[in-house]
Amino acid sequence: MALNLTDDELFLIHMILIEFEDRQVGRLGTARVKGRVTEAQTIARMLEEVGPIRRKVEQARGLEPREHAALPEAVCIECGCTDRRACIDESTLLTCRWIRLDVDTGRGVCSSCRQAVNRWDKGDRA
Ligand SMILES: [Zn+2]
Ligand SMILES: [Zn+2]
Repeated sequence: MALNLTDDELFLIHMILIEFEDRQVGRLGTARVKGRVTEAQTIARMLEEVGPIRRKVEQARGLEPREHAALPEAVCIECGCTDRRACIDESTLLTCRWIRLDVDTGRGVCSSCRQAVNRWDKGDRA
């Protein structure tokens, strides 16, 4: 970094960035579960932008830069649609939403694929 920041200042900036990222990751999970695709895309892009900034601060603090804190992009186990490439739910003619979603692994079942809910509920994630 070109600026001469003190360790305390860098620490504070680091904590603010981490808190911001954590909150956005939480919002992203909610937006995905509620099927708010546009909002999820906006938050995902914001996280892509803030990650490199946070890693720069970590380097400046002499820390090992952490991996991106964002959630993996969710994928439907049945049709393969994703957060960014949602399919059209034929019953509503709107973009699909998640009716099952494992936020940690990024796998789910979208509303176009209700036939897959049964196998999902039995533990199938493939
Ligand atoms: Zn699907
Ligand atoms: Zn879908």
